[in-house]
Amino acid sequence: MVVSSGPLNPKTASYEFNGISGVLGITFGLPLLCVVLNQMIRPDFYIVGLFTNLDIAELWNHIKPLKWYLTNKELWTYYLTWFGVLALFDVLLPGNTIDGVELRDGTKLPYKINGIALTSTLLATLTVRWQLTKGEMPELQYLYENQTDLCIITVIFAFVMAFFLYAASFIPLAHKNGKETRERILSVSGNTGNPVYDWFIGRELNPRLGPLDLKLFCELRPGLLLWFLINVACLHHHYLATGEVNNAILFVTLAQGFYVFDGVLNEEGCLTMMDITTDGFGYMLAFGDLALVPFTYSLQARYLSVSPITLSRPYLAFLSSTMALGYYIFHSANKQKSDFRQGKLPHLKSIDTKRGTKLLCDGWWGISQHMNYFGDWLISLSWCLATGFQTPLTYYYSLYFAALLVHRQQRDEHLCKIKYGDDWHRYESEVPYKIVPYVY
Ligand code: NDP
Repeated sequence: MVVSSGPLNPKTASYEFNGISGVLGITFGLPLLCVVLNQMIRPDFYIVGLFTNLDIAELWNHIKPLKWYLTNKELWTYYLTWFGVLALFDVLLPGNTIDGVELRDGTKLPYKINGIALTSTLLATLTVRWQLTKGEMPELQYLYENQTDLCIITVIFAFVMAFFLYAASFIPLAHKNGKETRERILSVSGNTGNPVYDWFIGRELNPRLGPLDLKLFCELRPGLLLWFLINVACLHHHYLATGEVNNAILFVTLAQGFYVFDGVLNEEGCLTMMDITTDGFGYMLAFGDLALVPFTYSLQARYLSVSPITLSRPYLAFLSSTMALGYYIFHSANKQKSDFRQGKLPHLKSIDTKRGTKLLCDGWWGISQHMNYFGDWLISLSWCLATGFQTPLTYYYSLYFAALLVHRQQRDEHLCKIKYGDDWHRYESEVPYKIVPYVY
C-alpha cells in the first residue's frame, strides 16, 4: 500500500513551464501553431515556398473574427455532437469495471473498460454511412473542408472547459448518501493557489461528471478518434479527387489507425500513466488531448492528400520495419513494467525503496529509464518519413514529440526524486541513460 503523509491536498511548492509566463506562452502560442501549421499545408509552401512565399497576411485571411467562431451554430453542432455522442457511448456501452490506482485518501476510483465496444460501434457506423451515402460521406468532406475552423472551435471548447473544471474543483463532493461532503482530491502539481497556473495544469486530479471520468475520456476518446477520422477524411478526399489511393497516405492512415486503436483499447494501461495518476485536468491536458493531437498529429495525411507521393516497395518495407521496431520497444517496455508491478516478473533485478514500491532495473528498464519513450518516438519518425523530403512541415510531429518526451522525462524525474528520495539516486546510478542509450 502506498502510504501518504501530510494533508490530503498538499500545496504545490514549485512551478513548471517557467511559471506564469511559460504557461501563458503555451496557452496562446500552441493554438496559434496548430492553426498556422494547418494553413501552411499547401503545395506552394513546400521547401522553397516555405521560405519565400510565407505571407502572414494571406495565412491570417482565412481566419475569421472570434465572434464568428463563438456564434457559428453549424461548427458547434458538429463538434458538440461528436463529443456528446462519444460521452454517451462511454457511459452506456457495456464493459468491465476495474479499479484505478490507490489515491491519497486510500480509495480507488472505478473505471469502465469498453474500448472494444466503442471501436466496433465507430467502425460499424463508418461502414453504414459509406453504404448509405454510396461513398460520398458528407461528414468526412465537411471535416476535411473545415479543418482549421474546427480546430479553432476545439481550442475554444478546451479553454472554456478548463474554466468549468477549475471552478468545479472548489465545490466539495457529496459523500455518504449526500448527507456529508468531502474535499476533492487535487493534483500535486496544480494546487499552487495561483488561478492562472492551476487553471492551466488542472486543479482537480480526477474530475467526474456522474459516471464519466472526464480526464480519461478526453485522453482516449474525442481527440484520439478525431485524429483517426481526420486521416480517413484526408484519404477519402484524395480518393474522391484522384480516383485512386497512393500508398504513402494509405500507410500513414493504417499505421496511425493502428496506433490510435491500440491506445483506445489500452484503457487499463492508461490508468497508471502520469497524466491520470499525477496531473490535474485543466487546460494543458484538455487542449493537448482535444485539439493538439487531432489537428497536428494528422498533418502527414493532410499533406499527402494535397501532394500524393508513391513510395517504392523497399522504402515502404523500411518504414514498416521502423514502425514495427518502435512499436515492439514501446509496447513490450510498457507491458514489462506493468507485469513487474503486478508481481509477475519476480526474477528481474530491481531496487527496493522506502516508499514500498520496487524500481525495475532490468530488461528494457535496465537499458534506459524510458525506453518506452524511445520506441514511441521511432514510431512517429516512420510516419513523418512517409511524406518524403519536400517540406520540413510534416516533420513537425517527430520534432514536437521529441521535445514533449524529453520534457515529460524531466517532469517525471523531478516527481520521482520527490517520491523516492535517495532510492531514486540509487536507481539513476544503476540506469544512467534517460531515454536513448549512450546518447541521452
Ligand atoms: P512511464 O510509463 O515511463 O511511467 C513513469 C512512472 O513509472 C514513474 O513516475 C514511476 O511511477 C514509474 N517508474 C519509473 N521508472 C520505473 C522503474 N524502473 N520501475 C518501475 N516503475 C517505474 O511514463 P508515462 O506514464 O509518461 O508514459 C506511458 C506511455 O505513454 C509511454 O510509452 C509514452 O511513450 C506514452 N505517451 C504517449 C504520448 C503521445 O502523445 N503519443 C504522450 C505521453 C505519453 P511510480 O513509481 O509512482 O509507479
